[in-house]
Amino acid sequence: MLDKFERYPLTFGPTPIEKLSRLSEHLGGAVELYAKREDCNSGLAFGGNKVRKLEYIVPDAIASNADTLVTIGGVQSNHTRQVAAVAAKLGMKCRLVQESWVPFEDAVYDRVGNILMSRVMGAEIELVDEGFDIGIRESWERAIEDVKARGGKPYAIPAGASVHRLGGLGYVGFAEEVRAQEEALGFRFDYVIVCTVTGSTHAGMLVGFAKDGRAARVVGIDASGTPAQTRAQVMEIARNTAELVALGREIADDDLVLLEDYAYPAYGVPSAETNDAIRLAARTEGMMTDPVYEGKSMQGMIDLVRKGYFPSGSRVLYAHLGGVPAINGYSYVYRNG
Ligand SMILES: *Cc1c(COP(=O)(O)O)cnc(C)c1O
Repeated sequence: MLDKFERYPLTFGPTPIEKLSRLSEHLGGAVELYAKREDCNSGLAFGGNKVRKLEYIVPDAIASNADTLVTIGGVQSNHTRQVAAVAAKLGMKCRLVQESWVPFEDAVYDRVGNILMSRVMGAEIELVDEGFDIGIRESWERAIEDVKARGGKPYAIPAGASVHRLGGLGYVGFAEEVRAQEEALGFRFDYVIVCTVTGSTHAGMLVGFAKDGRAARVVGIDASGTPAQTRAQVMEIARNTAELVALGREIADDDLVLLEDYAYPAYGVPSAETNDAIRLAARTEGMMTDPVYEGKSMQGMIDLVRKGYFPSGSRVLYAHLGGVPAINGYSYVYRNG
């Protein structure tokens, strides 16, 4: 589906699929859980899902003769850290707008984890006191103008690399990669679990798995806490991406499964149940997840297994999208493990 698009390699190649035997057993053994380790996809500052998306955006950035990548996220954004790493790798400058998306006040929140790495990689960071919003932001548009005013050539990447013409392609590629891996494994996954916020990860998977009739087997776990906006953004990106790759069929409203039950109490703030899920995955599998994204999709997957959402014998693939560096901003929450 992606042959006609240029891809700039930034990842190690296909990501491994790992069986989560102890977690599956712990939850009763009726459902087989697997993880696709997007969190181990690249040597660029711990990698993650944004690096896979950026492989299809970077050729456009290079073709535009830009010298500065400009993007936006929260203070502990994984996306901005991955853009900073990609800029360093390409020999470009990087300008980051980091907004106060998370009402969280750990004393070291703006010193450790993702933002620490972005600073070390040489990004120019502007902290802005604005709340959570996955849409296009004025602060980001101002940063783009500022780069121009200083004589630079900006290349603008929206939050999460999502509302970008090419933002959905990386995760269309994920679906194709899973299909090839299923061939080698000798079975097909019945469900894919994905954490959804700015939307192009889920949207790309939706288009990629629509090809073999599995769009609605992609179960999105909302972590935004603003699910109506996320739902609309996923649909828009999925429809644009389907057209771009000439999928040959419409994306219907009921192709999108987005569960809203796990984002509480707010974007970036873990509930007691999120923290229980993080500890359970860590203690059964040695697999770390974070309190903003993957801990919530882990919580969702565990709850769905317990509720019997997946028929007995189902094989469920958890897309581990990265994000662990942010856990350093939550040191007080985990002071006793
Ligand atoms: C960005 C991110 C997500 C959400 O992906 P979207 O494409 O923004 O919906 C999930 N998990 C991690 C670790 C992320 O960094």
